[in-house]
Amino acid sequence: MTELADIGVTGLAVMGANLARNAARKGFRVALNNRSNEKTETLLAEHGQEGSFIGSSTIAEFVASLAKPRVVLIMVKAGKPVDIVIDELLEHMEPEDIIVDGGNSLFEDTRRREKTVSDRGLHFVGMGVSGGEEGALEGPSMMPGGTRQAWDRIAPIFTKMAVSVDGLPCCALMGPDGAGHYVKMVHNGIEYADMQLITEAYDLLRTVYGRSAAEIGEIFAGWKTGDLDSYLIEITAAVLAKQDPQGKGALVDMIRDEAEQKGTGRWTAQSALELGVPITAITEAVFARALSGRPEQRRAAEATLGGMRGGTLEAGQAEIDKIRDALYASKIVAYAQGFEQLTVASKQYNWDLDLGLIATIWRGGCIIRASFLDRIREGYASHPDAQSLLLQEYFSAAVLKAEQAWRDVVVVAVQHGVAVPAFASSLAYYDGLRRTRGPANLLQGLRDYFGAHTYRRTDQEGSFHIRWSQDG
Ligand code: NAP
Repeated sequence: MTELADIGVTGLAVMGANLARNAARKGFRVALNNRSNEKTETLLAEHGQEGSFIGSSTIAEFVASLAKPRVVLIMVKAGKPVDIVIDELLEHMEPEDIIVDGGNSLFEDTRRREKTVSDRGLHFVGMGVSGGEEGALEGPSMMPGGTRQAWDRIAPIFTKMAVSVDGLPCCALMGPDGAGHYVKMVHNGIEYADMQLITEAYDLLRTVYGRSAAEIGEIFAGWKTGDLDSYLIEITAAVLAKQDPQGKGALVDMIRDEAEQKGTGRWTAQSALELGVPITAITEAVFARALSGRPEQRRAAEATLGGMRGGTLEAGQAEIDKIRDALYASKIVAYAQGFEQLTVASKQYNWDLDLGLIATIWRGGCIIRASFLDRIREGYASHPDAQSLLLQEYFSAAVLKAEQAWRDVVVVAVQHGVAVPAFASSLAYYDGLRRTRGPANLLQGLRDYFGAHTYRRTDQEGSFHIRWSQDG
């Protein structure tokens, strides 16, 4: 009789196929399934020799090829297809079996699915997977959410598939039900902000300082070794250096400025609005993509309102260093906001998220991997209850050091009509956060005037209301 598989993967598009190959390369026996048979056959034909696979053409056959308690990883298109596949699996799987959804599912869907599956006596794990196609094959960062019992069963497989940094796997149990997908969602939100900040630094160097794409690529290459050292900075240097294969200069100059989005950034912003967490950098990044998606409107506005003034300022080392500092300070704010969102969500959903552990598993495999995450990990290790990343010594010192440069860069951008929404909103957040007393006293006065919403006084407890339109 054929030996049964350690894990099954259903959904063999780019991510599922590469995760299946990753598991097989690590020595696990992998059962394969896909709605249409071609993908299973192609994988077996092209990569069957990489490890031990069992192909199947029906879900029944697929489930029967797995050792008990069975572990099935679903890697199909997010949304309705996940529910369809779960329903099919439930017809054949048994109590104590484990279903893992590794797609980019909305955490609320994961909470609902977890309830449905656990009511049937099985375990459901919602697992965020980051690192794209290459990460899935070589070792991604994975963020599972589910029961401890399910995790103990699947940990030996997934921690081996994940990349390791300093001997620690970039895969750990985040918490119950939707915790893993929530953490992955915020990871993607931070990724949006990080990328937006990089494009703003590029925009300033390109349009205000007139540097070429290749020159800016070299500047980014120089930033790879400092505080900004990260995967995104590294690939920015590579993208800017790439020449158009059709011979028209830098390839980036030939790409339309219209960014697409799949939804995780928007979900992060929506959740933050519901939880009342000010994640301005992430939200501005989502809106910047939305504005980029309106080329006709932008063209009409440029014709009517005149475009940015741009400029031909000289970018000496001092100016370049200031942009780097502004980028770094804004990035700290974006991460501080993302981690604050995780803190608030953790309380709201009773997840008991470990922020230091999250920083640990984001150090490798995922898109926002950066040496910076080591500092965050260390910060939470020494101050697990810090109210904000910005209040941890390392980061407060870094923003204070960068502050003047940050202001100067935003001023230059504003004077030249170059939009830097993530730089500027991060600075505004920083300035707002640093004030014990802001201007919301006036807001409360206005709210009480038109809606009798009451106000609280600085010198007494209790709520007050006054007839504002009467004298005295
Ligand atoms: P995808 O393009 O999102 O989905 C294609 C896969 O879903 C195919 O295997 C397809 O089967 C299957 N599928 C679609 N509808 C189905 C249905 N009703 N029933 C059964 N199967 C169905 O694939 P992907 O890019 O590999 O991504 C998989 C998941 O990982 C998604 O949730 C995605 O958001 C997430 N993810 C992707 C990346 C990335 O870089 N691409 C990174 C991280 C996470 P057929 O072959 O039969 O059409």
